[in-house]
Amino acid sequence: MRDARPIRTRYGIDIHHLAPPVGSRAFGRYLNSLKRVSHGERVPVMAHISLTDRCDCGCERCSNIPSGRVEPTFEMVGRLLAELKDAGTACVAFTGGEPLLRDDLVDIVGLCGEEVCTTLFTTGIGLDAGRASQLAGAGLCRAFVSLDHFDRESHDNTRHRPGTFDDAVRAMGLFKKYGVHTAAQAVASEELLSEGVWERYVSFCGSIGVDEILLLDPMPVRTGSKTRELPEHTKMRLRDPGLGQSIKGAPVRISTMTRLEGPDYLGCQAGYTFIYINAGGDVYPCDFLPVSFGNVYAEGLGEVLDSLSANIEAPSRHCLASHMNGFPNVPRPVSLTDAVDIIKSCRGDGLPVLMEWIK
Ligand code: SF4
Repeated sequence: MRDARPIRTRYGIDIHHLAPPVGSRAFGRYLNSLKRVSHGERVPVMAHISLTDRCDCGCERCSNIPSGRVEPTFEMVGRLLAELKDAGTACVAFTGGEPLLRDDLVDIVGLCGEEVCTTLFTTGIGLDAGRASQLAGAGLCRAFVSLDHFDRESHDNTRHRPGTFDDAVRAMGLFKKYGVHTAAQAVASEELLSEGVWERYVSFCGSIGVDEILLLDPMPVRTGSKTRELPEHTKMRLRDPGLGQSIKGAPVRISTMTRLEGPDYLGCQAGYTFIYINAGGDVYPCDFLPVSFGNVYAEGLGEVLDSLSANIEAPSRHCLASHMNGFPNVPRPVSLTDAVDIIKSCRGDGLPVLMEWIK
């Protein structure tokens, strides 16, 4: 990305959250894994792991795919991380539910070691200085804290829990204090990007000292239900590398999923170099694609990767979850057979730029 805005972190130079910081041990592993991918191997370079379905919020846009099972023990997560390391995973993000609700989160982060870059997706609820310091000490590289709005009430209403705004802001301050790369994360909307609101959101994030803002696309969640499309002018703004960067006091970087996972860069890696594992161990190509290809705790990672390889042959230039949304007549939840057909129909216009480049 020619317009990347690198940020110096304690592990190296952070280019964006889809790769480890340049110079870190995890980055060397990342390059190795990409090389293997370029030689036709299937490597889960990045894995999102849900540690629990529990959460004190009730957000409509929650991407958690509930497992309906008991959450994994520390030993199960340990075995999974060991399998992922063996397979070449370089980036792991812990999510939920709310991962901070796990008493053993610090120990789980510690299992990753420096060869795997770790990220936490969190509401920030329940974080105190002691825990923030322990997580940083265990090797946590990045924390993405949900912040839907600069207005306390608006944020709390979206989360369906009073006090969540204050928890999020406090958590971001603590992560920053202990040297964790800290980002505010929100789902992009017409309202958030409207004149006046966007400027105040960016300035607010700058004023609390976060390193980055990450805007996610509004994706279909949970059961593959439809979501409202953003208008074209808002999509265009999300593609603009300068979005919000000139606002006074803006954080160091403003990233959008539209650009990072768009055809001009990484494209959609769902089920190719990226997997999502829910709290019950079911493996999905992505948190937003609720079609399971197997269970890591029951079958082991190798078998699940074989199933993914057999059905998802290459990355796509376009978001598979959004593409699936364009098939409203396919019965929900989408079956594996239907999903594979839909995924195949998304191919055909070449590879994303980065994949062409490493080929
Ligand atoms: S389907 Fe692909 S592009 Fe869409 S959110 Fe998932 S990984 Fe990203």
